[in-house]
This record gives sequence, structure tokens and C-alpha cells, in this order.
Amino acid sequence: MSDPQVIVVGAGQAGLSVSHELVVAGVDHVVLERRQLGQTWRSRWDSFCLVTPNWTMSLPGFPYDGDDPEGFVPRDDIVRYLERYAASFSPPVHEGVEVQTLRSGADGRFLLMTSAGEMQARIVVLATGAYQRPHRPVDAAGLPGKLLVIDAEDYTNPGALPPGDVLVVGSGQTGCQLAEDLRLAGREVFLACGRAPWTPRRLDGRDIVTWLADTNWFETPLRALTSPGARLVANLQATGRGGGHDLHYRVLQTMGVNLLGHLAGVERSRARFAPDLLESVSFGDARYRDVARLMQAELPTKGMRAPEMPEPPPFRADPPTEVDLEGFGAVVFTSGFRPDYRRWVQFPAFDEFGFPLTVDGASTAVPGLYFVGVHFLRTRKSSLMFGVGEDATIVARTVREQLVRLQTA
Ligand SMILES: Cc1cc2nc3c(=O)[nH]c(=O)nc-3n(C[C@H](O)[C@H](O)[C@H](O)COP(=O)(O)OP(=O)(O)OC[C@H]3O[C@@H](n4cnc5c(N)ncnc54)[C@H](O)[C@@H]3O)c2cc1C
Repeated sequence: MSDPQVIVVGAGQAGLSVSHELVVAGVDHVVLERRQLGQTWRSRWDSFCLVTPNWTMSLPGFPYDGDDPEGFVPRDDIVRYLERYAASFSPPVHEGVEVQTLRSGADGRFLLMTSAGEMQARIVVLATGAYQRPHRPVDAAGLPGKLLVIDAEDYTNPGALPPGDVLVVGSGQTGCQLAEDLRLAGREVFLACGRAPWTPRRLDGRDIVTWLADTNWFETPLRALTSPGARLVANLQATGRGGGHDLHYRVLQTMGVNLLGHLAGVERSRARFAPDLLESVSFGDARYRDVARLMQAELPTKGMRAPEMPEPPPFRADPPTEVDLEGFGAVVFTSGFRPDYRRWVQFPAFDEFGFPLTVDGASTAVPGLYFVGVHFLRTRKSSLMFGVGEDATIVARTVREQLVRLQTA
């Protein structure tokens, strides 16, 4: 492989979108992918279905073309959409090539140490994923050695876990979905809950994501967040499984999932939980009211009537603050992600959480370095299927302009 002008790292929806826009602009580039195109979607658990409705599968030059826009396709159909997308413009993807280190090279170029050897490029676009490194809030080292302890990305299905009860740590979208998956398989499930927003899946027969797309919700810019940490707040609890349905604390409680406060610590086989379940539920209810207010304020300005969102019903629970994990089969951490760039990108280009410092995807610290597919890169929708394309178009345009400047300098 000869050195191109531009290297895109990662062939998920973000890398493919950038590649599409570079192909359209006639920019010489390659895409390096450590495993297979669309790998992150391929690796999701067996019962996973898209959580945002099908119409959101809409990347540059390839809008959703199915006949069920408000449905939720299963995992393998998401992969097929990405494969069809790639087939539509033949991106220069090299699969099985991992970029192990990125640093500065000679003549102002970037040097990439890859599993296929050294490469150089004038411009590098990192599209290596929105959710990179699983985050565990509590050191799992204290857990009994015979317990299987995994992160959500290693979960496939209930049958793959050893027999016994399961503790799921974290109640964002993923935690709630894994708790449901396990419960439906007849497992006793304990869910350590944190703060997460929720809404009903559908309102007046229309999906919540479709409603919110008619407001400025997904356009919320990074600068509107109250703190850098606000970027880490969970997404709305919901699922696309079985045609899509509500999946918040009240639903899980009715299913028989044992809801607990957040995991505070583990000593040998005893796990301690904070007495904060009711506060976490109140936090979610407050976000529900925020969404109701947002729709009431914004939809009428577009001639639309906001859907009814009645007050959430009372929530009652008296969970234990200690659980003996003796006899449990597994603990599954689903407690969020952190960026992982600093492990292999040798530039001071990141904030305290490891998020890249950028304006419109262009690094403010390293000229020629770009990012796409980062959670809240520009707006709330930046890491989502229907939002990443807008950012990719902007980044590809800036890359092309920079190349023109370099060539005329
Ligand atoms: C559980 C879950 C459910 C989600 N559901 C939805 C949903 O319903 N709708 C929606 O719009 N969004 C959803 N998202 C968010 C987002 O769409 C996905 O995370 C999506 O995979 C992000 O695409 P991406 O291209 O940015 O990153 P990824 O799909 O993660 O792609 C990054 C690629 O880079 C490769 N890579 C990484 N590092 C290197 C390296 N050093 N060298 C070479 N290659 C590398 C990886 O192998 C991977 O293929 C979900 C996220 C999660 C975690």
C-alpha cells in the first residue's frame, strides 16, 4: 500500500461517511480498519436491535430505503446496510490493519505504526468509535475469583453466561437491554442503577426519536452542556427489540428485575449498593419532564401539537444495600465508556476525559488531525447514524481545503 495524502482510521459509519465524501471530492485516501467494516455493530449481543428507528440509518448519499422507517432492524441488518453503503461507492478500505501508534513524522507528516507496517500521511482522520473503552466505576478485583466478570461488549446471550443469578452494573440503554435479555431467559437479575433519562418509546403512535428530531434536541451543541462531564450522561432508556418498546425502571421492575442503588463497592462475595435508587428514578423522571417541556415549547412553533406526556406514576422500592454474590453466575459491567485515544495517539490533543479538542472535527491542537463520530463532537447527534454524515461532510470539506492549501504553498 503506497502512502496516500489522507488516512482515515476506522470503517464504521463515521469512517465510511468521511470516505464517501472524500471519494465525491476526488481526494486520494485510504481507510484502515483493524478488523472488518462495521465491526462494532457486528460485535453487539445476539438479540440487539437498532435503538433509533430505521429511518435514522441514513448516511451521506445513502438514505434509508426500506419500507419500515419506524421499525428497528436487528443487528445483522444494520451490518448489511453498512455493507450496501460501502458497495455503493467502493471506499478504499483495508481491513485487518490496526493503527497501533500515531505520532509526528518527517516533513510535517503524520507517522502511523500499523500492523501492516509504517505509513505516512499529510492528514489523518480518526473515526475509531464513539464508545471506545468500557468504564468500570468500581474496582472489580474484590469480586470472587470464580465469578465471570465481563463488560457489555463481551456479552453475547444469556446461554453464554454460567448458570446462576446475574448482576448487571449500569442502567443506561445497554444495561436495561441486557437486564431484559437475561430476565426473558428466566435468569434472576439484579440491576445496579444510576442516573439515566427515559421517555416512552412511542407517543401518539409516533416514535420518540422522530418527535425529538422535530425539535432542536439532537442539534444541542457541545457548548450548551453545563460541564465537560455532562457529555457522559446516558442516552434515553428504550429498546428496539420486538418492534420497540419502553424499557425504563418501572418496566424492568414489573418484569421482576431486582433494582438496586448504584454499586458502591465489593468485598469478597458481598456487593454494597448506595441507598439512592429513588433519587436515580427521580433524576430520570425530571429528564422526562424536560423532554415534555421541550416538545411543548418547540413543536407549536412548527405548527405541530405536542403529544400528551402525563406525570410518571409513583415509584416504590425498598432495595437491599448489600447482596451476597455467592451463587451468582456473572457480573456484567454496562457502566459507560471513555475515549481511548491517549493510549495510542501521541499528541496532546485531548481534554481531561480524553475527548479530542476540536472545532467542527478539526483538532485545535494538531493541524491536519481530524475526528469524526465522537459523542457530541459538534452536536448531540454527532455519534448517531443520522447525525454523523453532517459532520463527515464538514470534515471532508475542510480536509480538501487544507490539501489545496498544502499543494499551492
Ligand atoms: C450499545 C449501543 C447501541 C447503539 N445504538 C445506536 C442506535 O440505535 N442508533 C444510532 O444511531 N446509534 C447507536 N449507537 C451509537 C453509534 O451509532 C455506534 O456506537 C456506532 O457504532 C458508532 O459508529 P462509528 O463509526 O463512530 O464507530 P464504530 O462503529 O465503533 O467504528 C469504529 C471502527 O474503528 C475501528 N478501529 C478502532 N480503532 C482502530 C485502530 N487503532 N486501527 C484501525 N481500526 C480501528 C473499529 O474496529 C471499528 O470498526 C449505539 C451505541 C452503543 C454502544
